[in-house]
Amino acid sequence: MEVSYAPVVGRFAPSPTGPLHVGSLVAVVGSYLMAKREGGAWLVRMEDLDTPRVIPGMDADILRTLEALGLLWDGEVVYQSNRTSLYQEALDALVERGCAYPCGCSRAEIARISSAPHGTAGEITYPGTCRAGLAAGKPPRAIRLKVQEEPVSFSDCIHGDVSENLAETCGDFVVKRADGPFAYHLAVVVDDAAQGVTQVVRGADLLSSTPRQIHLQRLLQLPSPAYCHLPLVTGPDGEKLSKRDCAVSISAGMDLARDGSRLLREVLRFLGQNPPAVLAVSSTAEVLSWALGSFDPSRIPTKAGALPFTPPLATR
Ligand code: GLU
Repeated sequence: MEVSYAPVVGRFAPSPTGPLHVGSLVAVVGSYLMAKREGGAWLVRMEDLDTPRVIPGMDADILRTLEALGLLWDGEVVYQSNRTSLYQEALDALVERGCAYPCGCSRAEIARISSAPHGTAGEITYPGTCRAGLAAGKPPRAIRLKVQEEPVSFSDCIHGDVSENLAETCGDFVVKRADGPFAYHLAVVVDDAAQGVTQVVRGADLLSSTPRQIHLQRLLQLPSPAYCHLPLVTGPDGEKLSKRDCAVSISAGMDLARDGSRLLREVLRFLGQNPPAVLAVSSTAEVLSWALGSFDPSRIPTKAGALPFTPPLATR
């Protein structure tokens, strides 16, 4: 049974495929403060459906890091791998209502048929080959969700109005993968609704996922939470950070008892906040307590940037 919280319910939803890294720490701190500053609840959900990528023990490693920083979650940690019957129910409803269909195309076939890539990050737009039914003799592989030729719009608390025509950017997208697992978009939408999440605060790398998730929410008649996509952390020269280089965990050699307070202050600065100089000698609990009283979402920048402490801490 899900527990219900009010008024704001935020969440952090890591994939336990590695230790926390500075980018995910920004999502942790941002989602925690956005929920807690309003007296809300903050949940943690382990997104462990992509079993080949899950590393045993990483869930515990992530939770230890959160605890060491004093970022304590409400209720039980939920594991997606225990909830597949919920995703199956949602998928069955979509298929029954004709919103989703089996697709027999391989990646190579789709790439061959599609014209130039349209989507974000060069994603190939699915041309709808199997929409009207599988060709004779073609076995089903994945299940795809139909999208419409019209924009899906929402208002992000940092990026403002965002609008995307899914038919152009991705086409009918996968909700159950050819290799078995339910796709991230389906699981996330089912879980956010089942857990009563009202506020999704996460990295801007997921901004382009949101219109797909809103489309799914509408088809499943689920409420849409508020969305807030935080700036991405880059290396000092603006390059993409490698997860391995920027691990934030005791297991990766960090002394969070010593450096946790500084780490939190740097994350707060990255989020446009201005922790006063006196906090330089404060504990993590004191820094968090200051942040709960002073966090101002309107100061969060849209642009990606570097976190100044990353290289020295990560390579210790
Ligand atoms: N599990 C996803 C990730 O680690 C985040 C999902 C979300 O916040 O919606 O990238």
